[in-house]
Amino acid sequence: MKTKKQAMKNDLTVTLQCNNNCGFCPRRELLMVVCRSGREIHETIKKIGSADKSIVLSGGEVTIRKDFFSLIDECKKNSIDKIGIVTNGRMFSYSEFVRKTLKKGVSGIILSIYSTKKGIHEGITNSENSLAQSIQGIKNILKLADNPRILRINIVISKRNIDDVMSTVSELHSLGVSHIILIDVITDDEKYMYSYNRLNHVVNDLIRSQELAGIHITLRGFPLCIFDRNILSESNKTRKIEIDFEPHDANTLFHLNTSVVDYINEFNSKFTKDLKKCTGCEFGDRCIGIQKSRMLLEKCVRE
Ligand code: SF4
Repeated sequence: MKTKKQAMKNDLTVTLQCNNNCGFCPRRELLMVVCRSGREIHETIKKIGSADKSIVLSGGEVTIRKDFFSLIDECKKNSIDKIGIVTNGRMFSYSEFVRKTLKKGVSGIILSIYSTKKGIHEGITNSENSLAQSIQGIKNILKLADNPRILRINIVISKRNIDDVMSTVSELHSLGVSHIILIDVITDDEKYMYSYNRLNHVVNDLIRSQELAGIHITLRGFPLCIFDRNILSESNKTRKIEIDFEPHDANTLFHLNTSVVDYINEFNSKFTKDLKKCTGCEFGDRCIGIQKSRMLLEKCVRE
């Protein structure tokens, strides 16, 4: 089983404005860590540049900032050469925007969608036309980037899209996407909570699929105890897809503001380890626990 600790990503939240309006968006919680002014952004980029060579610009939606391209220039000026962005991809439906972003030197694009079905995707984004723009964005990036592996797709899993994961992954794969990250939604809203048992079935279907050969799937934020052994095992020779696991991780923020500590504490307070079930768990050192909201769905955690 491949598990990885998330590398320090110097994730910088530069805005909470967004052109989508996702139902479970954690923007309110990010109020603690968003940069409050252009000056704060520039000072933080400078500080990151003096310590490291990589950054991830995130939001909200970073691409709708008027100074988006200047921010990339600013990173370059401060010797940061690995620049990632997290985006809903809608601005990338404009080819010129993609060309300019690539030319400026962005080296990683993590694009979030929920489904390739309009009703599901836009039922979550609450934004008309958001799916068509994100899909066009994916196509444009794959067409214009020298290395299509620059693009990774985030899919946050919730009750609204869990039954559509297989079909969405297949469609993205047929577009040429090579790496998909399935992420557990962090929520206590029953509208979005689903059964981990269902997810276990979905992942079993994914790893058995022949048509997905060559794709890389990362499972982020799920306690490993919910998966069958064959999913966790690396020795399955028939498996055609690469699969790995990583924990949810709030320790990715690099910011001048000390409220980052409060943010991390609040984030961690949403998770717990059940003394009865977790004691002696072989995955314990790689797991931040299970969401407290999940403890209500007792049957979700596999024995
Ligand atoms: S520590 Fe607990 S929640 Fe995490 S994988 Fe082990 S049993 Fe599951």
